[in-house]
Amino acid sequence: LIRFDRVTKRFGKNTVLDNLCFSARPGKHVTLIGPSGSGKTTILRLLMTLVTPDEGTITIDGENLYPADRRHVREVRKNIGMVFQQFNLFPNMNVLRNITEAPVRVLGLSRDEAEERGRELLDMVGLGDRCAAKPTQLSGGQQQRVAIARALAMRPRILLLDEVTSALDPELVAGVLDVLRDIAHTTDITMLCVTHEMNFARDISDDVLMFDSGKVIESGPPEKIFTDPEQERTREFLSAVL
Ligand code: ATP
Repeated sequence: LIRFDRVTKRFGKNTVLDNLCFSARPGKHVTLIGPSGSGKTTILRLLMTLVTPDEGTITIDGENLYPADRRHVREVRKNIGMVFQQFNLFPNMNVLRNITEAPVRVLGLSRDEAEERGRELLDMVGLGDRCAAKPTQLSGGQQQRVAIARALAMRPRILLLDEVTSALDPELVAGVLDVLRDIAHTTDITMLCVTHEMNFARDISDDVLMFDSGKVIESGPPEKIFTDPEQERTREFLSAVL
């Protein structure tokens, strides 16, 4: 269980998250929607312990993320995979090596084990025949699918997805979303997903959280939020993006 309890985060005078409360139950897919600058990315960065909250508590399965000692943070991070808008693959390594490096170094898998698992994951994202390619030889959509496979190679219990299709050419978006749909429907990984792809959000979400100015202003199942939202602000936002 991921739980944010009265979390406030400020950058200078800018209050980015304001007394935020929400939780995501294990295995559920929670989508964060809302205008640019409403604090969605900051939530994922807090979970990755890349930034610290000013107030409030964040727990994963009852374990407090803040304050935390370094070793504890490393343990927490092992359970969390993150995929960003930019793919950030290692440019000098081939595709398979991009996926096997962390399992070997961090999880202590043998290279053979890591490669076997890496090949399975590349098959799953439709790139089983591109193991030897360098990232620059792949399209953006293919690189993003490698980045997803790389995150899964660490066997995370939680997957954080931050606008993973925003940097892609439109014709490459569907392939990446299909892979994520597949993961959502066939694994029990908890997913927290920031996206502007509303059809995708509708397909995979158990819960949709609508953000505005650092607060959740409305939440509920996708059927409710996308078809019959309570808040005028949600209605406005959706009519602008749908
Ligand atoms: P977007 O959809 O544009 O990514 P978002 O909802 O994800 O928006 P955040 O990226 O969480 O929003 O940013 C919320 C606010 O916090 C923005 O005003 C941003 O400029 C500010 N912000 C984020 N990170 C920092 C930082 N490290 N230092 C200062 N300000 C920051």
